[in-house]
Amino acid sequence: MSALEKILAARIRAAGPMRLDEYMAECLLHPRHGYYTANPGLGGEGDFITAPEISQMFGELVGLALAQAWLDQGAPAPFTLAEAGPGNGTLMADILRATRGVAGFHDAMRLWLVEVSPPLQARQRERLAACGPRHVAQLDELPEAPLFLVANEFFDALPIRQFLRAGAGWRERLVGLEGGRLAFGLGAPVPVAALAHRLEDTREGDMVELCGAAEALMAPIAARIRAHGGAALVIDYGAERSLGDSLQAVRGHRKVDPLACPGEADLSAHVDFGALASAAEGLEAARTTQGAFLERLGITARARALAARLTGAALENHVAAHRRLTHPEEMGSLFKVLGLTPPGAPPIAGTTDAA
Ligand code: SAH
Repeated sequence: MSALEKILAARIRAAGPMRLDEYMAECLLHPRHGYYTANPGLGGEGDFITAPEISQMFGELVGLALAQAWLDQGAPAPFTLAEAGPGNGTLMADILRATRGVAGFHDAMRLWLVEVSPPLQARQRERLAACGPRHVAQLDELPEAPLFLVANEFFDALPIRQFLRAGAGWRERLVGLEGGRLAFGLGAPVPVAALAHRLEDTREGDMVELCGAAEALMAPIAARIRAHGGAALVIDYGAERSLGDSLQAVRGHRKVDPLACPGEADLSAHVDFGALASAAEGLEAARTTQGAFLERLGITARARALAARLTGAALENHVAAHRRLTHPEEMGSLFKVLGLTPPGAPPIAGTTDAA
């Protein structure tokens, strides 16, 4: 039994079964034993790999799309360039390299990183030292200024609750104990106000997920963009609305039981893009797939240019990375892109057919 499993089991014995969002928050962010606080393993050597770790092309194109949005809105200076959950700092390093040639962008930019994990903060500080990043733990601590923000695989790490449809009510999935080990159970059926609209599109026994944290964290982003201008790009796996159990635990690039090794595996869940877009009150929302987004931004031309300098295994890896990012059977369709802009501003490049 891991240290965290012992702590959680003792708590359940004393106070009864825990909500899934509490379990997930402890697993990811417990001050001593949380996955992100204690031993985050991002990248090829670690537990899971993200788009920026697959290829530099991802961050380059995201960077150019954000710089274009900045130009489209009159190149405000100064402005905040921010990333939520920057992991190893790879995405931001690629964004910064790709935007070096955009006149005035780096001079006007103030770089802010939103990160809760102390070891990842240290990694990011080292990796991005040349641009003097400042860290905050919460999105609402970002300055009041034009905000150009990216969040890749950030919202999927926020704690969710799960509910099973039972008549006109819902049974919440809880984490309890069975024979001394963590086990899933279900609460009694109750009405859930936040799920009233889901009674129309679900059937008996369907599971739906709610991510209160995602909606709450969208508020300070939307408030800054409404007040000062800017744009936000949210890239993650998920769908238009939540349906089914999408909780996933990954360790060493393999799926594991989400209750088997709390704190030692990454936990994530599909992002409900419909709910997230609704939470971005007062902003224009454009949605597309990662594959379409990257194609419209010219990933194929960029891939060819890079391929011209490669041979052998490096070339094979590069071709595989391009496919992995864009192909519908890989990340191309499962991953979605949500682009948020203030009313009247053009949509972020790549997020609509026209752009
Ligand atoms: N964006 C990176 C890393 C994704 S992993 C990439 O694409 O490779 C998720 C990141 O979000 C990690 O940096 C993690 O520490 C951070 N994170 C998770 N929950 C958070 C929270 N509630 N507040 C701030 N950062 C959080």
